[in-house]
Amino acid sequence: MSYFEQREPPKREDRLQARIAFGGTLCGLADKTRGCCLDDRERGFTQGSICLLLPGLAMLNSLPDSVVLLHGAIGCGACSHSQNANVRAGSNLRRGKVKDALWLSTALSETDVISGGEVKLEEAIREVDRRYRPSSIIVAAGCVPGIIGDDIDGVAARLQPQVSAKILPVHCEGFKTKIWATAYDAVYHAIGRNLLDEPREYEQFLQDEFAELKEKHMLSRTVNLMNVSSMGRVDELELSRLLRSLGLEVNIFPVFAHPEEMYKVTRAAVSISTCPTHDDYFLKHLEEKYGIPYIIRHMPIGIDNTSLWIRDVAAFFGLEEQAEKLIAEEVRELQNALEEFKPLFKGKKVFVSAGEIRALANGQLLRELGFEVAGIRSFHHDEYAEAEYEKLAAGNRDFVFNIANAQPFEEVNMLKRTKPDLFLGHWCGNATASKLGIATHVIYNTGLSYIGYQGVYELARRLYRQLKNPLFNKRLSRYVPLPYTDRWYEADPFKYIKTIGGEGVE
Ligand code: SF4
Repeated sequence: MSYFEQREPPKREDRLQARIAFGGTLCGLADKTRGCCLDDRERGFTQGSICLLLPGLAMLNSLPDSVVLLHGAIGCGACSHSQNANVRAGSNLRRGKVKDALWLSTALSETDVISGGEVKLEEAIREVDRRYRPSSIIVAAGCVPGIIGDDIDGVAARLQPQVSAKILPVHCEGFKTKIWATAYDAVYHAIGRNLLDEPREYEQFLQDEFAELKEKHMLSRTVNLMNVSSMGRVDELELSRLLRSLGLEVNIFPVFAHPEEMYKVTRAAVSISTCPTHDDYFLKHLEEKYGIPYIIRHMPIGIDNTSLWIRDVAAFFGLEEQAEKLIAEEVRELQNALEEFKPLFKGKKVFVSAGEIRALANGQLLRELGFEVAGIRSFHHDEYAEAEYEKLAAGNRDFVFNIANAQPFEEVNMLKRTKPDLFLGHWCGNATASKLGIATHVIYNTGLSYIGYQGVYELARRLYRQLKNPLFNKRLSRYVPLPYTDRWYEADPFKYIKTIGGEGVE
């Protein structure tokens, strides 16, 4: 049975045996994953984690003509405030109008926990439909309805005939997974179950007269370019530019796609992932149900990875010759442009922290620029990253490697030991390094360029500026102390990581 026939998707711990706890070296991890013997580990002490509502809402809030109805405690979904700048700017750049994230909450109380929240949810759905008349109402469930047993799918099915908006239940109960990438599956699951049917007239049109035309359309040169919000508009444009250079059309999906036009994703010749961590769940569904093949191998970050990504797409369409010409021209121009930066970068040590594929691909990119990778921390691990480990492990240039859903106490210990010149981390993830006086740069910001050949140049330009004058963080470290003692800095950074079922889990 397809996962999409079930009400909610499986968590990634079960579907992909994803892991969140490893401490050692890159080559050690590569050996373990090659031999399929990465232990199931846990931490005896943990400092924090990330709820899957964070990436889930980043995608859902972007959808035009939609309202996100958070069904949960009042604090759930508060990340929407920090994501709103991206929604406003992204809407303006893609659709020509400024749109705020439109989200409400059922704000479940202690009384609701006892008596159930379904009635409140029903009333809220009716009110949203009456007040905003949206195309879709997205019911995102947090922990509380999951714990008390509210049936959000049942409520949606019951109310659907009474409201004009399409109701999408999305299961984002934070307690059920420690892998925040499960959010991508949860959102794709809701879209796949509710929004991919073509409008009836269009179906009729095709069936009656132009079935052959549909066949041709399927085999045409349209590609689905998947973006779950980890690319800003500038990166979408860079990949579209490269694909259009090969004569291909591009359908970007699902962020900022209008719910009523989402069915178009079922009519492309092929789907291309931009990050293997994000899309396998949905791309398999598109292939199984609609016969659309997919490519999910490389993240187009860095020179070699971008070239590999283009080659994969070109091979699908038989455009290898054009692709080699395009790659040669682009790489030549890029290498010339990078010359002025490389002397400053040569031999400088860098530590990278991000989602798994992004962290590994950036490690490759930074090596291409002349940096020495001192360490990488990725938020989880699953099988889709194995090709990236092979690339980084080639040449036996080993370094410290950590898999951790945040855990800044491990990070600070590693930074004290490796002493990098530069730290690349996520939004809100650079504070520890900054307080140690290390120059920092954000590894993901939808207003900046990171992807494709242009992304290599733009990142190099920004890092050059940062490293030319790293004084701000140096001064910061003099006045803003970290809370750890020397005893922790002298300890093994991974001392709390233990094998499940083994000794020592505290
Ligand atoms: S869904 Fe659960 S983990 Fe996520 S913010 Fe709400 S209460 Fe916290």
